[in-house]
Amino acid sequence: MNESKSLSIWLIVGSQHLYGTQVIQEVEQHAQVMAAGLNSSGQICLPICFRGVATTPEEIYRFCQEANASPDCAGVICWMHTFSPAKMWIQGLKALQKPLLHFHTQFNRDIPWDTIDMDFMNLNQSAHGDREFAHLLTRMGKARKVVVGHWQDAKVQQEMDIWCRAAMAWHDWQGARFVRFGDNMRQVAVTEGDKVEAEFRLGFSVNTHGVGDLVAEITKVKDHEAEELCGLYESLYRLQPELKKGGQRRAALLEAARIEIGLRRFLQQGGYKGFTDTFEDLHGLKQLPGIAVQRLMQDGYGFGAEGDWKTAALVRAMKVMASGLPGGNSFMEDYTYHLEPGHEMVLGAHMLEICPSITSQQPSCEIHPLSIGGKEDPVRLVFDAAPGPALNASLVDMGDHLRLLVNEVETLLPPQPLPRLPVARAIWKPHPDFQTACAAWLMAGGAHHTCFSQNLQIAHLRDFARIAGIEYLVIDRHTRLHAFEQEIQLSNCYYALRGLFGKA
Ligand code: MN
Repeated sequence: MNESKSLSIWLIVGSQHLYGTQVIQEVEQHAQVMAAGLNSSGQICLPICFRGVATTPEEIYRFCQEANASPDCAGVICWMHTFSPAKMWIQGLKALQKPLLHFHTQFNRDIPWDTIDMDFMNLNQSAHGDREFAHLLTRMGKARKVVVGHWQDAKVQQEMDIWCRAAMAWHDWQGARFVRFGDNMRQVAVTEGDKVEAEFRLGFSVNTHGVGDLVAEITKVKDHEAEELCGLYESLYRLQPELKKGGQRRAALLEAARIEIGLRRFLQQGGYKGFTDTFEDLHGLKQLPGIAVQRLMQDGYGFGAEGDWKTAALVRAMKVMASGLPGGNSFMEDYTYHLEPGHEMVLGAHMLEICPSITSQQPSCEIHPLSIGGKEDPVRLVFDAAPGPALNASLVDMGDHLRLLVNEVETLLPPQPLPRLPVARAIWKPHPDFQTACAAWLMAGGAHHTCFSQNLQIAHLRDFARIAGIEYLVIDRHTRLHAFEQEIQLSNCYYALRGLFGKA
């Protein structure tokens, strides 16, 4: 995945000069030990870089400006080891643009009952120092993640990791470029959205190229390059006999390989992190891209079908968030239902474009007709998603704000083989139950396109939504329909007020 390898999280520790230089030195030593401990824990995906003890408004402002200016700083952690009068933080926090984590911890885990004196008390004051800091953050309306607990506790470190992953995805979005080949599927509502507002609020740009620009790149692909890629397909996947060398449909496989090579080059040359296409606009393309999209997604590119740029950006963000975790993330669509009472299930799939990162099987490489679009038969990878806990996330434009809707699901292996289904698929049961989950999703206006994730938790997406300033709604095992409906109503009030006053 083409994200920066040099990212880090900055740790800034608050204090003041009231206690003398020795105390500041001790604070500094403690912060160094803490950063080293967090880094050697193996729990946190980004290095924590201790930047210093901040004791004056000028220092604080400088730290925050440096964080803003550093392309490798994905976020800032603040911790008040001692009391640090919070008015000193106003200018710095006003300027700070990076994601913020307020770490409410203490260097010592236990109170040293036998030896505790006022010197110890004055050094270890985060219990009230962090309250002073948090008061200001709340008064300023500053979005931040709060993590509470001792820094050596694995659970606390895991919470920090979740936020680091969200910060990493946010960092990846800033200045990211997504390309649409063709426009939106005609007349479709939910895949549309305000691209200007998205660039202003979320940091990534979305621009269109006529599909002819892509075709021009595909036309340049040399025969031997397509042959070589077909060889790779043969080594990785179970090829249908007619797609093998000498097989009747080999030419279609070569065409699919040409599409992949051309598409990959187009994305690389343009510095794109994701893309959309639409079966309604394939002028000059012989097949709807299938295996090409599947393999590019597996390599970390975001994708949305039918012009769905919001889902393309979300798939990319979730892939970045999940970097290094086992399991996968894929573009997905709620396709069809199994409505057996008590055993209701969703079959998720798409016309072709499901990412092989979500399977543990060796995909089967097949060619079948596509019932819409009027093009030649496309080549695709067919497989079942691995069973286990997962979630579906949907990013929709509500007109006055963006909404991220997430539903926890349990993925199952298909109860029976699906010998005639020519696409990759996932079967799941949504939490808390089919009826509640679907009703809540419909009431929240969630899309039919989602990003399906096997390795992210609700907490990752909550942290991400908070950083991005996006509304966040979750349907999980605790969801009750009536309360969920009220949550939507309250949220609508919030956004209506925000529209009136700028900040509610
Ligand atoms: Mn679709």
